[in-house]
Amino acid sequence: MDCIFCKIIAGEIPSTKVYEDEQVLAFRDIQPAAPVHILVIPKTHLIGAAAITAENSALVAHIFEVIPKIAAAEGITDYRVVTNQGAEAGQTVHHLHFHILPGRTLKGMC
Ligand code: AMP
Repeated sequence: MDCIFCKIIAGEIPSTKVYEDEQVLAFRDIQPAAPVHILVIPKTHLIGAAAITAENSALVAHIFEVIPKIAAAEGITDYRVVTNQGAEAGQTVHHLHFHILPGRTLKGMC
């Protein structure tokens, strides 16, 4: 599959990994919009938030359990979690991902 995040999961493209378990990978954004900018992705390919269903939402719940652990490890307590669904909303990688971003000033994020 021609998905850059699937290639990162497979180790075919390098990433700066900050967390990994059997369901989830988190790594630093290659173009950070803040001093800490981490992407959290499911290892299962889902195109975006629009693909979340009752059948796979436990995976999303797991991601939201992992996010506070990643934030704590980064030493941040105040942050936002952003997902862009669809190109018109700024989604450029069509594999579900959640941005962890501290701070108020974000370049074009929201
Ligand atoms: P979005 O615009 O919400 O789809 O976010 C996609 C994010 O993936 C952007 O912030 C990109 O900077 C980031 N990104 C794209 N390719 C890579 C990569 N190889 N490693 C890390 N982050 C990436």
